[in-house]
Amino acid sequence: MLAPPTAELAERLTPHDLVAYFRCPHEMELEKARRGRSAAGAVGPVRTPADVVPLRHSPLLAPPLGQARVLEGRIDFSEKDRLIYLDEGEDDLPVLFPPENVRLDARFVGGHATLFDPVLGLAGRPDMVALLRDGTPVPIEYKATHLFVGYHTAHGRLFDTVQAIAECRLVEAAFGRRPSHGIVLYGDASGSGLHEGWVEVPYDQAEEAWLKFAVHEIRSDQVRAPVPCERTCGGCEPNSEGICRYAATRYEGPFHRARFAQQPR
Ligand code: SF4
Repeated sequence: MLAPPTAELAERLTPHDLVAYFRCPHEMELEKARRGRSAAGAVGPVRTPADVVPLRHSPLLAPPLGQARVLEGRIDFSEKDRLIYLDEGEDDLPVLFPPENVRLDARFVGGHATLFDPVLGLAGRPDMVALLRDGTPVPIEYKATHLFVGYHTAHGRLFDTVQAIAECRLVEAAFGRRPSHGIVLYGDASGSGLHEGWVEVPYDQAEEAWLKFAVHEIRSDQVRAPVPCERTCGGCEPNSEGICRYAATRYEGPFHRARFAQQPR
């Protein structure tokens, strides 16, 4: 009898895949097809059947949000906290730690920043990981946007919450200790800085259970249906190349979603 497939053999997923699927399963499928381009530039295969019926909402349930903490102002770490991981491929990340508190884990420098979770088959790169004074590692995802305006925990920025939960799992796998939460840090590098702030997304049993459910749901979905709507299609990267047949509007640029995200859902 054949052994059941392991996560190693299953479709590799990233936090960004989860975010894309949460918006629109077809977007995630097209993103993967773009990454699988042939040498001639043709996008890779797409599993979505031609007669698919577009959906009004993504089939993925929202992650738990009830205990997220919203904090306004500039984030400060204590002198005993350390920066232990940095995605060196990301430009324009804020400097949160003085040089003497930067102790990057040697396993993840020099082009080896991708973190893996072989159990769930996840891979990805948080922007940063802080090691708090009590030994807890915490992923930090930086959003150089003004999105703190109108943030409401009941609506939240669910896409960012999805990403933070997945990054907590990656950090736990890579550093061997469970984060209590992930941080989504909002800045406004080009503006006044009046709306800086951050959200602490808890990583507890409920969030972990949601993540396992989400990974299973995504891998089981053989359709990857489109969810056309102006809110998401206008900022959808595959739409910028004109490769989505179901787009509700033309591509409006990378900040289109950001504008919508300031409004309660
Ligand atoms: S353009 Fe709209 S429907 Fe098409 S993949 Fe993007 S978000 Fe989905």
